[in-house]
Amino acid sequence: MKLVFASNNAHKLEEVRRIMPSGIEVLSLSDIGFEADIEETGTTLEENSLIKAETVAAFIHDRLMNGDAALNGVDGVFADDTGLEIDALGGKPGVYTARWAGEPAANRKKALSELAGRTDRGAQFRTVITLIKVNGERLAVSGIVRGRIAEEEYGHGGFGYDPVFIPEGYDKTFGELPAEIKNSISHRSRALAELVKALNC
Ligand code: IMP
Repeated sequence: MKLVFASNNAHKLEEVRRIMPSGIEVLSLSDIGFEADIEETGTTLEENSLIKAETVAAFIHDRLMNGDAALNGVDGVFADDTGLEIDALGGKPGVYTARWAGEPAANRKKALSELAGRTDRGAQFRTVITLIKVNGERLAVSGIVRGRIAEEEYGHGGFGYDPVFIPEGYDKTFGELPAEIKNSISHRSRALAELVKALNC
């Protein structure tokens, strides 16, 4: 099976390629010549993952109609949208996780400063994945990893909020833990496992 992953985030693409079973070939947006930025105008993770998947599905449809060989054998597209949901902030930043303070370092700083002096540091990452097949079939799955926000940044691995997120059952952040561990328990790997189960691969 050949699926396009609708993300320009090289870190996400690498994670997804490592997690997916060998029977599913994952193409990037650049592999299929899609270069536009997709505006995430939704108010939920579900809406944003749908917007991304629909935009790329429409592109694939047009290209297939035009006989573009790069799209030969493509079975569909999937898009993910992830939010960091902090308990003490009522689930914020949620759908606004990417834009909370601006770029990743400022976002991590904001997470730490919002929780400064607090002991209730519970949080979760939630990923929603929407798949649209070229035959029009659609499905949405999700994955969650519970954890807590660290007192400061630790580690340089991963991306985004990884250096400030300690997953449940561990005392190190995703930024410190080996990629294999993150990829075995993360929100994204759990959502992908649901996707694979639904695809019967
Ligand atoms: P999006 O899913 O690309 O919209 O990402 C939303 C925000 O969550 C961005 O700030 C990402 O850096 C962050 N993010 C997404 N996935 C992860 C992850 O696995 N670890 C840490 N941060 C993440």
